[in-house]
Amino acid sequence: MCSMKKHMSVAVAVLLGTAAFCGDSLSPLASGDVALNGGLARYMEKSMAGWILGDVPYHEFARFFRDGRPKFATGEMWGKFVRAGCMFYRYAHDEAIKARMKECVADILAAERSNGSISCSPVEAQPDGRGGDLWERKYVMLGLEGYYSYVDRDPAVLESLKRQADAIIAQVGPPPKVDVRDQGWSPNHVESSTLLEPFMRLHSLTRERRYLDFARYLVDCGGAKGSDLVQMAFDKVPPHLMAGAYPKAYETTSYFEGLADYWRATGDERVGRAVLNYFELVRDRELTIVGNGGADQPFHPRVFGEAWSDTAREQTNPDIKRMMETCTGVTWMKFCSHILRMTGDCSAAEAIERYVYNGLVGAMKPDGKGFSYVNLLDGEKVTNKGWGWDFGGKRVTCCNLNGPMGLAYIPYVSVMQAADGLALNIYNGLRAKANAPSGAAVEMAVETDYPLSGHVRIVLSPAAAEEFALRLRIPAWSAETGVRLNGVAYGAKPESGRYLEMRRIWWKGDVVELDFDMRCRLLKGPSGVNQAGDDRVAVAYGPIVLTRDEDVDKRYNEPVHIVATADGTIQAKRIEPAPNGAQVAFAVPTVEGTIVMTDYASADCWDGSHVRTWLSERLVSRRKR
Ligand SMILES: [Zn+2]
Repeated sequence: MCSMKKHMSVAVAVLLGTAAFCGDSLSPLASGDVALNGGLARYMEKSMAGWILGDVPYHEFARFFRDGRPKFATGEMWGKFVRAGCMFYRYAHDEAIKARMKECVADILAAERSNGSISCSPVEAQPDGRGGDLWERKYVMLGLEGYYSYVDRDPAVLESLKRQADAIIAQVGPPPKVDVRDQGWSPNHVESSTLLEPFMRLHSLTRERRYLDFARYLVDCGGAKGSDLVQMAFDKVPPHLMAGAYPKAYETTSYFEGLADYWRATGDERVGRAVLNYFELVRDRELTIVGNGGADQPFHPRVFGEAWSDTAREQTNPDIKRMMETCTGVTWMKFCSHILRMTGDCSAAEAIERYVYNGLVGAMKPDGKGFSYVNLLDGEKVTNKGWGWDFGGKRVTCCNLNGPMGLAYIPYVSVMQAADGLALNIYNGLRAKANAPSGAAVEMAVETDYPLSGHVRIVLSPAAAEEFALRLRIPAWSAETGVRLNGVAYGAKPESGRYLEMRRIWWKGDVVELDFDMRCRLLKGPSGVNQAGDDRVAVAYGPIVLTRDEDVDKRYNEPVHIVATADGTIQAKRIEPAPNGAQVAFAVPTVEGTIVMTDYASADCWDGSHVRTWLSERLVSRRKR
């Protein structure tokens, strides 16, 4: 085994040319080995019951492949539904989910066409250009790959996947075949090159060379017509300037997920650098305080809020009407899981935490029966308006289908395995089964009501005493973190935004306690092109962003001046029980008097009510003065 594997920066070393490629730094625990029992478990249970096992027209999704689709790209629905269902099965091993997935798979396999494809278009019309045929076939493949990997290793599924891939290879490629960059509905056709992900998965399942060759073609094509996304990321072009007028956040990130897998398989240094750069660029330039990104203003008004738009800076822009598509956030979260696996970069886990506790659960309908399409920080927090199709009065959007996938990914990243120990990334009540370096079992229990409080108790139970590293993510926002080992203050002072590495001989029943710095703090608004952020502030409690909810306070939109200390700490008082079903609420001091703020995620705006997250100190924005 490669000695670099001991460290958390293998992939970085590879990129610097100091080591041969030797695989991931972290890997997810095996299927079924993480069981959440904290607050996040409730969201996951609602999504499984309300969506995966709910009243969803999944037979209709499959019917499009037999009878044709009613609208471009609607063939994506089958694969997205099944992909999320299979990921939930990986977590819960629920027999009802298995039975439903089995039904879905039987449906779709029966739709195979004479050339082996599973497509909404007849063979003679494939690939069908603007209809989105390749994008839809990508999702069929991902759905079936999820089923084969996590639910049932049915050889018929793998054989079908190979026939589907071979049909695509026969149609798409260098001349005289069709150019992948000419296929799809969007101006730069970025969606079609996202076939990279299912081809890399199929290559890892079969090790057959032709799938990697086709993946190389997709990499060499650069992902979009007129823009080489790989080279642009390599050159650190900001995401909102990538892909010309159409830097669609979700599809671009999906292509980079495929690139991460390609890097994992090949160790290609240029691709690896591009993947890491893309992660850093999106993290630093596109994400809002609730962990999702992309917006219509100010750069891409015609992409419906689904384009990268320098959103980290522009998130206070009062002209934004649509931003933070759920599909974008979920795909970003999945991409972050690649970065975590490959590099062990703690900031990828921090990005996931920020999205999960704010943007993701904040987008779910309270009954679990769907997710918001775009999500505003100020104004209408949620909406079901956007691309989709009505099935006899039931509207299904891309985001309804992708939101559950985000929830199903939480256990995949919460606790991860390294060659020399364990990493705890997402704090929530859970039990996990992992392995010590010797291979012996290690059980971990995380007992906490986090993020309602900042106290986390971790109990380790190795089968036998053994030396290994326990890495605990110390959030960047936690200025002072208390650590106790078996009741005694731990010597090393943890550094915010890094893993605290505790390497020692662990005994059954060893207890680590963490106390994060949950003091409410002021977030200063970033200032974009119209400098609206100059008078905007927000308030956070630990990982949670607070908001003013119209249903809690009718004066939610009035300007206020928050009273904070010089270091940004706010003397806010917890209100219990929290109003309007919120998880947490605070009485926040302002010059104008105390205001009530609740967690952004809990604000239930499905009744059309509004929120105000970036509080304004003035009624009129700077631009309009
Ligand atoms: Zn969507």
